[in-house]
Amino acid sequence: MAIAYVDNIEKTVGSFWHGMSITLSHLFRRPTTVQYPDTPEPLRDCLPARYRGFLEVDIDICTGCLACEKACPIGCIKIAVEKDPNNPKQRVMTQFDLDEAKCMFCGLCVEPCPTGAIQHTREFEGSVMDLRNLTFRWVDPAKPQPLYKVPKGTQAYLRKPLASLVRTKIKAWDAPGPSWLPPPKDGIAAPTAKKKAGGVDAASIELAKRAIGVDRKKLQVILEEAQAGTDCGECTYPTCHDYSDAMASGKEARTNLCSPGGAETHATTLLIIDSWKTGAVAAGGAPAPAPATEPPKA
Ligand code: SF4
Ligand code: SF4
Repeated sequence: MAIAYVDNIEKTVGSFWHGMSITLSHLFRRPTTVQYPDTPEPLRDCLPARYRGFLEVDIDICTGCLACEKACPIGCIKIAVEKDPNNPKQRVMTQFDLDEAKCMFCGLCVEPCPTGAIQHTREFEGSVMDLRNLTFRWVDPAKPQPLYKVPKGTQAYLRKPLASLVRTKIKAWDAPGPSWLPPPKDGIAAPTAKKKAGGVDAASIELAKRAIGVDRKKLQVILEEAQAGTDCGECTYPTCHDYSDAMASGKEARTNLCSPGGAETHATTLLIIDSWKTGAVAAGGAPAPAPATEPPKA
């Protein structure tokens, strides 16, 4: 009995040190993973050659056949072809818009393209504050593009270096949305200015105004709009909807659980709840000075 007891202790200590020695050995090795985005070379260059990233259109070799538009199962591509008013024998393209935000990168549009004008690139970094910045406009309507006529006997089509065109389209993450597209349907203006300290900007104030005098159901919708919208579970609720529902119904008093949203989301959440409770947006849009730890009362 005593021998078995000592034997167990020896095994426990032995296995503990075996595990620890493996852990400690890794402290002195070169890490095999790197922290994004501090990769030694651009991450796109580490991706496989046939990676399906943002689509790129070399409009100079586009025949305007519409095959890509027809192939897209979700209508990301909008092409318009008309007669050239100055030369009725010539047809021109006046629109080629591609919504990369909607695209599911299936590649179905690439397959039927007769000239290889539309291709996937390895570009994928498209974080933007305004989703409309991911609609890439390949033809300027003010400068209609004559359709490419394939010379007889052509077997290969020279296109511009892959990704050289799409890179010029990728906007800075906080760039204002394009004026040629209608404003977002939710009515919240795209942020055109950086948030002030504390995160209370024009969009936050608009949300707070909408919260005045609404019932708890509508308050939930407004609170959900203020959260990061990632459904990551960091707030301990399964989705942003559940967290905002708990706050709106008074079951959750903590207003700072949305880690991805950070201080800005917290400030906006406080402002919304404050406006809902008091019936007015605080002067200057400042949120309540102390965190609203009390659940909102009906
Ligand atoms: S990759 Fe698929 S979803 Fe994207 S534009 Fe082409 S067909 Fe449409
Ligand atoms: S990109 Fe290709 S498939 Fe699409 S219209 Fe141009 S030539 Fe046709």
